Amino acid sequence: MERIVLQHACIITMDGSDRFYPDGSIVIEDGAIVQIGSSDDIPVRASEGLDFSGKVVMPGLVNTHIHTHSPLFRNMGEDVDLHTWLEDIMWPAESCLTAERAYWGSKLACLESIVGGVTTFADQFYYAQTTAEAVEQSGLRAFVCSTIFEHGDSAKGQTLQTAADFLKRWESRNNLITPGLGPHAPYSVSAGQWKDVVDLSARSGAIVHTHISETRKENEGIVQKYGKTPSRWLAELGVLDRHVLAAHCVHLSDDDIAILKEHDVHVSYNPVSNLKLVSGIMPYQKLKSAGVQISIGTDGAQSNNTLDLLQDLKIGVLIQKQAANDPKMFDVREAVRLVTIEGAKALGMEGQIGSLEVGKQADLIAIDLRAPHVSPLVKESARDLYTTLVYCATGRDVTDTMVSGTWLMRDRNVVSMDPTEIMKECEKVRKDILRYIHKE
Ligand SMILES: [Zn+2]
Repeated sequence: MERIVLQHACIITMDGSDRFYPDGSIVIEDGAIVQIGSSDDIPVRASEGLDFSGKVVMPGLVNTHIHTHSPLFRNMGEDVDLHTWLEDIMWPAESCLTAERAYWGSKLACLESIVGGVTTFADQFYYAQTTAEAVEQSGLRAFVCSTIFEHGDSAKGQTLQTAADFLKRWESRNNLITPGLGPHAPYSVSAGQWKDVVDLSARSGAIVHTHISETRKENEGIVQKYGKTPSRWLAELGVLDRHVLAAHCVHLSDDDIAILKEHDVHVSYNPVSNLKLVSGIMPYQKLKSAGVQISIGTDGAQSNNTLDLLQDLKIGVLIQKQAANDPKMFDVREAVRLVTIEGAKALGMEGQIGSLEVGKQADLIAIDLRAPHVSPLVKESARDLYTTLVYCATGRDVTDTMVSGTWLMRDRNVVSMDPTEIMKECEKVRKDILRYIHKE
């Protein structure tokens, strides 16, 4: 039985009572938390404990919308609108991907996640098989959702069959990896294929991870084609009766919001991606007031341009305050919930991850409190700590990352992957992509 004890950490639990311990200890056995409390109350042998003084220990971050191959396209589509970005830049670039190239992109996304404190993410892309292999090697926890898409040359049914095969192959292969379905969006999947997705999800229990109402143009297109909004159309097709994780949800009517609530759709707020592509600002307050469950995601690195969830949290909170013209609308504690326990809820994982509690998985991170940009800090003040996490810290302050009791990064050294090799391979792939696009 492996036993790990972290001592003298400033622990933020994000449990139901928001307990925190300015000088706390946490005991982990076989990947799960068995004890948590003040260091004084948890005596350990001198040789046993790891000293975490000067660090916050908190639940690992949950990124509820990402495309793992995306770092390959980082900084490639600047200063254009979403549809130009997709049709003229991203889809041509994606068309030269191979399983091998996507694998290295996925490895880089895993590496960036580990370094930035993300312990669980929800992915959506083709090459789910190779993505899952990359995730497996990284030691991260993930929902890997195989993209289903009908556009241009994409053969009807082909991506659905690939997704069905992927579900079967990964059903019980690795308990950190949950296979899911990733129908791309209402504008890129036909009614018939949405119905097939519903059937497949009902048979397998797989999550449906999609994009809904990201842009006004998308809404107009769907209304023109089907005479109803994307949310209503998907509800009538039976899609929203499944466990749906919907990214963006920027352009919603009051009726759409009521539909999302009625069907328990989990919304992933993607503030930086929406800002970058000038898609709009998600109606956070309206969704929250209606009782819709909300978490936060980075989206892909090509529309962000990083996968730094803490950075996105700050921006996401600030733009909502500005949009509402109300500095009181977003409490710092509520903000930290978005990247932890609310992310876990979005994936139906709140019983296992998202907070530090006895019986839950030891998915946690440590953040350095000994840096100028977080000083001075009174660690006995919970409010100071939450404020530091939302407004001062970024992913670069994360020092340690653990999933299910296994260190993926310790004292800023990534232990589950080889960063040098990954960055070198991705550089080669990037050159291939540029050669392909520019027909060099
Ligand atoms: Zn996306």
